[in-house]
Formats: sequence, structure tokens, C-alpha cells
Amino acid sequence: MLQIDALPAFNDNYIWLLQDTTQKRCAVVDPGDAAPVLAWLKQHPDWVLSDILVTHHHFDHVGGVEQLCNITGAKVWGPAQENIPARQVALNDNDHITVLGLEFEVFVLPGHTLGHIAYYHADASTPLLFSGDTLFAAGCGRLFEGSPEQMYRSLNRLAVLPAQTAVYCTHEYTLSNLRFAHAVEPNNPDIAARIAQVTAWRAEGTISLPSSMALELRTNPFLRVNETSVKEKADEWNKQDNDSPSAVFASLRSWKDKF
Ligand code: ZN
Ligand code: FE
Repeated sequence: MLQIDALPAFNDNYIWLLQDTTQKRCAVVDPGDAAPVLAWLKQHPDWVLSDILVTHHHFDHVGGVEQLCNITGAKVWGPAQENIPARQVALNDNDHITVLGLEFEVFVLPGHTLGHIAYYHADASTPLLFSGDTLFAAGCGRLFEGSPEQMYRSLNRLAVLPAQTAVYCTHEYTLSNLRFAHAVEPNNPDIAARIAQVTAWRAEGTISLPSSMALELRTNPFLRVNETSVKEKADEWNKQDNDSPSAVFASLRSWKDKF
């Protein structure tokens, strides 16, 4: 049995904790800080941290890797194209790996960084996607290294995953992303409903994740660049005819950077 919980870190990061409750083994995704993971392990002394999965090289995702690896001996998996501390297995596009007895497929998704990877576990009922800073709930990562065209293609690879895929991203950005989504699509009832839902959750301190691919397709403007109304808003923003979906994406991304 796999259980997944979020360990909060810094202001708005989540370190995803995957727990194999039968074997009492666990894995973490993007431990930017070792402290929350070590605290959990201290409270669960009969558990072993066996694996550390890393999506990209930013400090808030790798800051705790070396310390955790030294203390627990966990195996560190990370993108081949980036410098990842203590990385033991360098991952490339379409690699298949086994963690906690589950198979994960690796997607290389340039955009936020050039070597950014996501981890996908195919499952008949609820597939799992650990999307790092590429696909967020109702948003996407900033383009620190890649081009809009690269990020657009990366997001398209994720958009075709099964609708019931659970999306585990690294940051609690959902509400601010939804405010932007509402500006892009003021008449989208799914966005309005999600704002009400997430506002209530956040008011009581409840996490807004995981999301689902189905919900993202209905409420994430960066996955909705083919909608006429989205294109028109993008055209309004950069005062030009964005005549391709990736041009609409580029316009939305630059708008969001200043929103
Ligand atoms: Zn990042
Ligand atoms: Fe981040």
C-alpha cells in the first residue's frame, strides 16, 4: 500500500513523502530542506528512507539531498542533464525506474530549467505524476532557462496523460495561479468554482494538492491556449495576433510574470 503525504518546507514548498506502509520504506521528492524529513523519520523510527527523487537543480528542491543521503544512505535519483548533489542515478528521457516497488517513467521537460524531469507512475485507477516546477495547479513554472516553445511542448506531453492522473507539484501556488486564470477566463465556471474551493481550503490551512489532470485541463490557462477566448485575451495583452498555440502560451507566460 502506498500512502503519499506532503511535508511542508520553506514558505510554500512541499516535499512529497511516498510511504510503502507494508515494508515501512519511504521515498521523498525534492527535499529542499532535510529538517522536515529528518523530523518525520525521528517520529517513525522503524521506517527507512530508501530513495530521494529530484526533479531539477534549484536549491529549494535539492538543499536537503546531501544531508539526507549521508544520514540515511538513501539512493539519489536525478536529471542527467543537471548538477544534482550526491546524485547516484542520472536519468534520461523515457527511462523506467523502480522505487518502492513501483515503476516510474521519466519525462525530460525543458522550460523552467533545461534538464527538468518529472516522474510518472502509470496505474489503472490513479496514475501519479510528480511534476516539480513544470506543471503547477492552475499554472506552470517560470521560464528560467528554457524558451516558451520548449515549455509549451513539455506541458503538452503532460496534458495527454490520463484525466484521472493525480498531479503532485512542488509549490502551494494554487490560489495566486487561479487569480491569474480568472483574469484570463473571467467566464470560466470551473475556475470560479475552484477559486471558491481553494480559498476555503487555504483559510483552514488545508493543502490544495494533489490536483488532477482533468481539473487542470478545465482550469489551467497554460493548458488552454487553444481556446478562442484565451487566445483573444493573450492577443489583448501583447497587442498582436498570436497565430500559434505556442505564441499564445508565450504571451500568457509573460503576462503572468508581471501579474
Ligand atoms: Zn524551481
Ligand atoms: Fe521550486
